[in-house]
Amino acid sequence: MAERASWSLGSALRGIFGAKTIDDDTWDDLESALIRADFGPDVTEDIVEQLRAQVERYRTTDPRDLNRMLRELIEERLSKFDTTLKLTERPAVVLVVGVNGVGKTTTIGKFAKFLGNYGRSVLVGAADTFRAAAVDQLATWAERAGAAIERPEREGQDPASVAFQTVDRAKREGIEIVIIDTAGRLQTKGGLMDELGKIKRVVEKQAPISEVLLVLDATTGQNGLAQAEAFIQHAGVTGLVLTKLDGSAKGGFVLAVQEKTGLPIKLVGQGEGIGDLTGFTPHVFAEKLVG
Ligand code: GDP
Repeated sequence: MAERASWSLGSALRGIFGAKTIDDDTWDDLESALIRADFGPDVTEDIVEQLRAQVERYRTTDPRDLNRMLRELIEERLSKFDTTLKLTERPAVVLVVGVNGVGKTTTIGKFAKFLGNYGRSVLVGAADTFRAAAVDQLATWAERAGAAIERPEREGQDPASVAFQTVDRAKREGIEIVIIDTAGRLQTKGGLMDELGKIKRVVEKQAPISEVLLVLDATTGQNGLAQAEAFIQHAGVTGLVLTKLDGSAKGGFVLAVQEKTGLPIKLVGQGEGIGDLTGFTPHVFAEKLVG
């Protein structure tokens, strides 16, 4: 049997679903388990209410029925979002945004490899030009992934001009997918959003932007989401990447984050290795989450 993920509700739910019957404790215990898993109070209340209604409707007292109902309900709610990446343009331009430290650089490396595995050629653009070390780190990941990289000509070069060079080169060289890294310094929020706006305007003159992916650290759950609010409001985000799910106990965040932001999860990082990135499949996640 596959190893149980840290974010699975399995052990928290075992007592509930292994009990003889559904009673008042069932609902209290279920509510606490969902809150602990970071579903958030609103989603938790909603789920418990829906399940109570179903249990009544089907006149069941068997906790195994409740187990199945929870899994189906979570899958149904996760499936309301279109989680497929839209990369049909040539070149397909992907902007990657997010607060520093969430795993943006690592994600770009893994994503380049992921696309390479499907035979796609990838060019990474290092438009976070503020720190030379960040560019070097990105270059290391690009190399590992077998992807080309467009670097700034000097430290602090205008990020939009690096983005321009990157897309320009992809068009000249016939590279299929462009992934552009962007800055994530929170202390300059206003400036950061202006910078992103400029990158987008410059890129859009050359090619449509296929995806703007916001990277979120799953271990910070709903708190991290508050930090990323400015990106959600102003960056035209088309999808989310959840990182560090491997070390997270917050499985409920997977559901809550889509419902709170209205944005689909498109990629999930579950480890520090280059192969530790997958697409997001609601059925698989519902199954793993509820067990
Ligand atoms: P950035 O500042 O957003 O570019 O973040 P980095 O890509 O440098 O990552 C910050 C730290 O998070 C590094 O130590 C990464 O190895 C780690 N990290 C990134 N993604 C994952 C993940 O999916 N799982 C785990 N366990 N660690 C990750």
